[in-house]
Amino acid sequence: MFQCMWGYPHGLHCNYLIRGVKLSAHLHEIHGISGQGSARAECKWNHCGQELNNGSLCQHVEEIHMGIVHFCGCGSKFLRRDALNDHKESCLAFNKDGRQDVRR
Ligand SMILES: [Zn+2]
Ligand SMILES: [Zn+2]
Ligand SMILES: [Zn+2]
Repeated sequence: MFQCMWGYPHGLHCNYLIRGVKLSAHLHEIHGISGQGSARAECKWNHCGQELNNGSLCQHVEEIHMGIVHFCGCGSKFLRRDALNDHKESCLAFNKDGRQDVRR
């Protein structure tokens, strides 16, 4: 169970208790984050202030603020960091980072 730390004006927080991994549903219903698309949205978790697109905001909160999941650059999701590290050894998307030769 996690407490939602989405910030409201005047230093207040949402404080809603989120069970399991229902974070995206909560962000959608209560805070108006669709969880899809590339519209810009500001992360207000603990007044973080980072700008992301709607589609990656839930990932950002789960990974950075809740620490419950870890994401590879390819979009794969892992519940443990060692599982992510294992995956990265064989992940093509990750290994291509920085020297992409893919033509679009
Ligand atoms: Zn909330
Ligand atoms: Zn944030
Ligand atoms: Zn990957």
